[in-house]
Amino acid sequence: MKETALERFIRYAKIYTQSSDDAETYPSTGKQLDLLNLLLNELKSLGLKDAKIDQYGYVMATLPSNLPNGHPGRHKVPRVGLVAHVDTSPSASGTGVKPQVIRYTGGDVILPGDRSVVIRETENPELKNNIGKEIVTSDGTTLLGADDKAGCAIIMTAIQTLIENPQFLHGDIKIAFTPDEEIGAGTKYFNIEDFGADFAYTVDGDTPGELNKETFSANLAEITVVGRNIHPGSAKNIMVNSLRAMGDIIVRMPKDTAPETTEGYEPYIHPHIVSGEEAKSTLKILLRDFNTTGLEVLKKKLEAIIEEVQRLHPKAKISLKISEQYRNMKDYMGSDLRVLECLWEATKRAGLEPSWVPIRGGTDGSRLTEKGLPTPNIFTGGQNYHGPTEWLSVWGMEKSVETVVNIAQLWVEKTTA
Ligand SMILES: [Zn+2]
Repeated sequence: MKETALERFIRYAKIYTQSSDDAETYPSTGKQLDLLNLLLNELKSLGLKDAKIDQYGYVMATLPSNLPNGHPGRHKVPRVGLVAHVDTSPSASGTGVKPQVIRYTGGDVILPGDRSVVIRETENPELKNNIGKEIVTSDGTTLLGADDKAGCAIIMTAIQTLIENPQFLHGDIKIAFTPDEEIGAGTKYFNIEDFGADFAYTVDGDTPGELNKETFSANLAEITVVGRNIHPGSAKNIMVNSLRAMGDIIVRMPKDTAPETTEGYEPYIHPHIVSGEEAKSTLKILLRDFNTTGLEVLKKKLEAIIEEVQRLHPKAKISLKISEQYRNMKDYMGSDLRVLECLWEATKRAGLEPSWVPIRGGTDGSRLTEKGLPTPNIFTGGQNYHGPTEWLSVWGMEKSVETVVNIAQLWVEKTTA
């Protein structure tokens, strides 16, 4: 019996796979292995003989080419990779997810487990494309995990579809399921050589038809203020409260260059996590720009703020550290445009109007592309990631399966045309 993408998704969504920002291990949480091992076994039972899991938890497998002997593409069609991540975001609870499938008939969707959690029509323009169709939500007390278990279900269903339809000609298809994407470590130990793909796609987007070949370039800035602590009773002229300087820094962060006030290709500086007490405090700041050179401009803004605040608090020691996170995949996509053309045409062939949308974030593909494996991103049909109003269009997910199946065939057509 063929299992649908929806049935697979529901099974995966119930497995608790949250990753964790502050862990020493890889994967960051052992429970991600529950889903990784399940996917491994499902790949094996689909007949993918080389399916394996490595010491870091990466699951990889090959669906071998079905091009017959003598086919002109037999030794020429590039090996195409499909990648999805199993972890869910630490920003919302992912334990005890109770997915519900409802037929959407218009209006707001009130979630049953917490009636204050509402998927609003006004905030979800994509809802109107699902009137009369099925959508999946959580019960409102957890996220749903369509990011990226929808991607896992889409890849598995596409592979099954290719196996069951030998008339769909394809080259070698490489599959990878990864942990820890949500904490920015999805490709930390990803062995590109072992994976063996020439081009790849992450199935980790959202709105049906929207495709991604551009992501932010990202740096992490860390400001540390060192003060001096002493009992408040005898602190006069001695205490240097780092929190006061830190407050003056935060208040100077440009409000017109913030995630809350920008969109499209606009950059931002985003105060993200602050911690500390009188003696020492730290602030983590996300710097994002589609132009990597723009990250220097954002750094200069921080330096100017620090200089100003340093003058106000001469006894505090303020320092700035910048570390690289990921880079815009566009700069590394390479000259072989087939990777983008196949994706575009596959989406059209699925009956959708494709569009390129810049991602105001990163994907596993950002790093893979930077390391030499061009990896644009495909929609999944999910919306409102990382929170309890997350929802998934079943129709969108099915369109994504179709798109992936089309991609496999288009690579054959493009190579032998
Ligand atoms: Zn994701």
